[in-house]
Formats: sequence, structure tokens, C-alpha cells
Amino acid sequence: MNELDSRQQSFRILVVEDEEGIQELLRFTLEKQGFVVEMAASVEQAEEMLEISIPHLLVLDWMLPGESGLTWCRSLRRRDNIQALPIILLTARGEEGDRVHGLESGADDYLVKPFSPRELVARVQALLRRSQGGLTPNRLQIGELHIDTKAHRVTLQGDPVAMGPTEFRLLRLFASNPDRVYSREALLDLIWGRQSYVEERTVDVHIRRLRRCLEKVQYAHIIETVRGEGYRCNPVPPPVAVPSDLP
Ligand code: CA
Repeated sequence: MNELDSRQQSFRILVVEDEEGIQELLRFTLEKQGFVVEMAASVEQAEEMLEISIPHLLVLDWMLPGESGLTWCRSLRRRDNIQALPIILLTARGEEGDRVHGLESGADDYLVKPFSPRELVARVQALLRRSQGGLTPNRLQIGELHIDTKAHRVTLQGDPVAMGPTEFRLLRLFASNPDRVYSREALLDLIWGRQSYVEERTVDVHIRRLRRCLEKVQYAHIIETVRGEGYRCNPVPPPVAVPSDLP
């Protein structure tokens, strides 16, 4: 098992590559790291997949049959819902001019074939770190509330705090970026993987559920509503209860 945190398991990467050998290398390398890999052999196929859901990262070959990766990359950057998608461009060319051309097309990074699997993984991780605001450490803590991101367990002073998988992912995200305000749209992207059929009010439903789970241990207040903006984590533990029968 690799050293990477479990949140990485849920990152989905769309690979657009037409050469079978490289497809296999990419799939093998990325799946070994726990990423969910989707494969398309052309821009046309990739477009169909984007209709269904938008991945967390795109690995895009420059030279493809039909529309080139470079042209497609440029057009993706003009679309509102895809602008922020991290893109690594693959190419057999290595000239400096091509590199600049590639980055000008809107790609975030650029990898020249033949590349080593290790280099690919390093680039993917660096880009996800940049775009996701950091991979989550194994353990997070807010006051006495412990979040084990590997075992997917939440405990308060050793006692389990029950919650569903979506509520857990929300809590893990909030706790790993305290004070950061997340819009409903951002939460849909990060938790649901931008599946087009999930509505924004779904976010509110799961936030309510999360608060109900946390309420039982007096931690509901850590999930704050920011009016007109979304939600954030207020990482302040509850005040220590003073027994009422004290003098
Ligand atoms: Ca190719």
C-alpha cells in the first residue's frame, strides 16, 4: 500500500490517449496509486464522458485522431464548468517552443514522452495538491473530535460518532481546510465529483445530516453557514460543560 492518503482514492482522472500501450501504462500507473481512471481514445469520446461527469484531473495527449488535444484543451478553458479542471498535456515533442505552446493552450502542466511512471505520478499529485488545496493527512482533529481519514472513522474521546459516507467526506474536507468557505458548487465538485445530475440542494440535505450527527456530541456548531456564500468549518471546540449543581 502506498503512503498516500485515502482521499486520493476518490480522485477521478480522465485519460485521453489513443495509443494502446500508453493507455495501459497510464491506467496501470494511476490505478496503482489508488486513482479511479477513465479512458477515452479521442476528443469525441472524452466529450461524451464529460457529459456524464467531470473528473478531478485530465491527462490529455496532444496528438489524437480527429481533433487534437491541444485544440481541445484551448476550447475547454473557455467553458464555464470546465475552466478550473487541472490538465496535464502529453506529447512526444520536446522542443521548448512546443512546451510554451502547450502551456499557452491552457494546460497546467506538460509531460514529454517517454516519461517515467514516477514522474507522471509526481506531476499528477502536485497538480491535485495545487487544485484541491492539499491532500488530507491521515488524522484530523477539531477539539476532541478525531477524524481518521484512512479508516473513515470519526470518534469523540474514543467513542465512535456515526455518520454516512457522504457526511464523512464533507467533514473530512471541512476539517482539512478550516476557515475556508466552500460554495455549494465547490462542494458538488469536490464531494460528488461534478456529476451533472446532482443538484445544489443535495448539498444542503447532507450538511443537515452531518450537523445532526455532530449535534449528538455537541459539535454541530463547527459547520457554519456563510450567508450567500456556502459553508465553512469553524474549528473551535464546544465550551466545556460546567455541571449546574456547582456552588
Ligand atoms: Ca497520440
